[in-house]
Amino acid sequence: MAVERLWLDVPFAEKDEAKAVGARWDGTARRWYAPRSGMTALERWAAGAEVPDLLPGEDRSLGSGLFVDLVPSSCWFTNVRSCVADKDWDRLRRMIYTRAGNRCEACGAGPDRDAKRWLEAHERWIYDDARRIQTLKRLICLCTGCHTVTHFGFAEIRGLAPQARAHLIKVTGMTPAEADLHITAAFSLWEERSRITWTLDLTMLTEAGIDLASPPDADTRATVAQETLSTQATGNPSGRLPRQLQPNGTTEASPGR
Ligand SMILES: [Zn+2]
Repeated sequence: MAVERLWLDVPFAEKDEAKAVGARWDGTARRWYAPRSGMTALERWAAGAEVPDLLPGEDRSLGSGLFVDLVPSSCWFTNVRSCVADKDWDRLRRMIYTRAGNRCEACGAGPDRDAKRWLEAHERWIYDDARRIQTLKRLICLCTGCHTVTHFGFAEIRGLAPQARAHLIKVTGMTPAEADLHITAAFSLWEERSRITWTLDLTMLTEAGIDLASPPDADTRATVAQETLSTQATGNPSGRLPRQLQPNGTTEASPGR
């Protein structure tokens, strides 16, 4: 029987520092650990409790399969990776991938380094239009190809729209015409939802003991929202956005959108 490891949660940016004071890497588990107990220099990275397999209030049947799923531009939480504190990201990600059997929950593919296909975490939300509350309801494990489809606006910006459309057709069995209708409908919904400033309900994470990185202040959020509109429009000059929202310059795309 293998001895239970003294696991560490080491953020990627701190790996050299942890290694220098004795942390070791388990290549199978893909995690850092302390080779023996009592190493005080490693205490700050001691692993927290495992994240439960089902997050509080989570609905794993919500939003099955593959579809274009655009996050409103008024929402700062566009990417779970950037909004969860570094120290908690690894244990959250590990739970999401493990419970999915290390396969994409939309198409079933596993990671493949040669094909540049990885596993990624994607958020599913429900929207209460009357109360203007956007509630995180599910975290789903997607492969790079499927994740690119869900963030179709960002795919357009990166010049990946044709591949994303082809992947959508392949995975869902939609006809090309059905896929185009679906994409257009997703952008219309995104436009409508982006007019609302949503109050976020992230209790699914916070009640599981996950710390969130601080949200930007209101001014920054407004800027982020405007940049999102610009970047979406930059990659999408086909008139899906109202004229006043068309960009007058280029804007760097933020990852994850
Ligand atoms: Zn997939």
